[in-house]
Amino acid sequence: MAAGVAGSGVVTPPLRIAVASGKGGTGKTTVATSLALSLQTSAVSERPPQSEEAFLPPIYLDCDVEAPNAHLFLAPTFERRQDVTILIPQVDSARCTACGMCAEVCQYHAIAVLGKRTLVFPQLCHGCGSCTLVCPESAISEEPNVIGILEAGTAAHGISFARGVLDVGEPMATPVIRQLKKWAIPADDSAGSVVILDAPPGTSCPVVETVRGADYLLLVTEPTPFGLHDLRLAAEVAAELGIPAGVVVNRDGIGDTGVDAFCAAAGLPILLRIPFERIIAEGIAQGRTLVDIHPEYRALFRAMFQQITTLMRQHNARHAT
Ligand code: SF4
Ligand code: SF4
Repeated sequence: MAAGVAGSGVVTPPLRIAVASGKGGTGKTTVATSLALSLQTSAVSERPPQSEEAFLPPIYLDCDVEAPNAHLFLAPTFERRQDVTILIPQVDSARCTACGMCAEVCQYHAIAVLGKRTLVFPQLCHGCGSCTLVCPESAISEEPNVIGILEAGTAAHGISFARGVLDVGEPMATPVIRQLKKWAIPADDSAGSVVILDAPPGTSCPVVETVRGADYLLLVTEPTPFGLHDLRLAAEVAAELGIPAGVVVNRDGIGDTGVDAFCAAAGLPILLRIPFERIIAEGIAQGRTLVDIHPEYRALFRAMFQQITTLMRQHNARHAT
């Protein structure tokens, strides 16, 4: 049984839908925010059809911690905050014999022995703790180092909203995303809520960390050669992680048919097409959401969500045997 799509009374983890794109500027946040607003039934007077999946309260996580921007569209009020820290080694020079074992074990070159001195480079350190473990003199202790912050609260129409923000100059987004997911996603939920994970652009470690554990991956692209190139990379990530994926084609009508051909060949369903329209581009530039600009898209996003739950069930049934 898929997460969060359980029958009445059964406690399951929330259903997690990650929204990603191989590159920035494809409309990933446009899709993620509009999906959240469409699932939040209190936002609309016309309620969706009576079905289990249609009444799931969304939790929105902005995992683009280097440049979060979903707050511009969902206008959250933050009620909770928590620092993100990683443990950085501190070397006790009185104990250190400059044996070099810590530098040997560090795959990130974040600690080095120069002559009789052992130096730590916090900007390179991933806080893995290996150097502390191998030090034969117990010369290394660990101190928390703040690299960012988590914020959570309530956004437009009562949507639960959380985001991570990496401190300027800090290089490691992955620990912030990992701690954000742990902090903001309930371990289980008998009501069967939906978590929407707004991923960073690209296909590197922060995206993998965001998408890891997702039940479904929504890939947002545009029908251009650049869009196709990055869609291929994002689809590879989905395949490697074994996550079922579908595609939203944004700015449909520009470019060519390469994305359609790729999706057909790769067995990736195209779940929604959003045409290229000046009114949409202008509205989004002003901080409006797609479903605000075109309210009829709520029904389309709800229908897409229903399709996702069906595809998930089929995927899970295929992989259960
Ligand atoms: S904690 Fe890990 S990454 Fe940091 S210096 Fe030690 S071994 Fe290297
Ligand atoms: S492993 Fe310990 S004793 Fe050896 S160089 Fe590193 S800090 Fe010094």
